[in-house]
This record gives sequence, C-alpha cells and structure tokens, in this order.
Amino acid sequence: MKKTCLECGAEFEGRCDKKFCCDMCRNSYHNRIYREEKNLLSRVNCRLATNRRILENLYDAGMRTVPKNLLEEEKFDFRHFTSFNKSPLGKITYRCYEYTYFYDRHRNIIILKD
Ligand SMILES: [Zn+2]
Repeated sequence: MKKTCLECGAEFEGRCDKKFCCDMCRNSYHNRIYREEKNLLSRVNCRLATNRRILENLYDAGMRTVPKNLLEEEKFDFRHFTSFNKSPLGKITYRCYEYTYFYDRHRNIIILKD
C-alpha cells in the first residue's frame, strides 16, 4: 500500500497504520509537536504569571479598585485568565489563580483575593 510520510512527504510502502517512512521522520515529527506544545504552554503560563504578578502588586499596594487603563499600562493581558464565572444576572467575574477581578459600573476593576 502506497503511503505518504507525514514528516518528509516521501512515498513509502507499509502497513496501513504506518505514518512515517523511517524512525528518523517519526522522531522528528513527534519532537516538533512536543516542542510546539511546550512553547504554547510556556507562552500561556508566562502571560498568566505576569497577570497574577500585576494583580498581586496592586493588591499588596492596597489598591482594590483600579482604573482599567492602569492594568493596560502594566501590560495586563485581558485575554488570559484561569477561569471565569457568569452569575444568573450576567455579571462576569474572572479568576487569575487566587485573585478574582471584575468590572464595577464605572468600568474600574475590582480586585479581590482568596
Ligand atoms: Zn519521511
């Protein structure tokens, strides 16, 4: 059965479940996938850690109500959080590890800690 190697694109013959022409191609394919996964995880982890540090610094400085632009200036990444919750009334609260934050009606951000 003619197959095409997932790594190098070479045609080869082999069992129907065989995906690579040789061990080297199989290894470099899996190493690349693993590396890309590791890079993605460390990028996301880094952003979450940065967000957490920003919240921690503000909280430790006694700031519980913070204008959104202050977080933006600190390079807070609003796309990354560890979880969120939407109340039955539609109020959304975000979590970043032990910190909870949400908008008040003036678009300030309220920071709470567990
Ligand atoms: Zn190959």
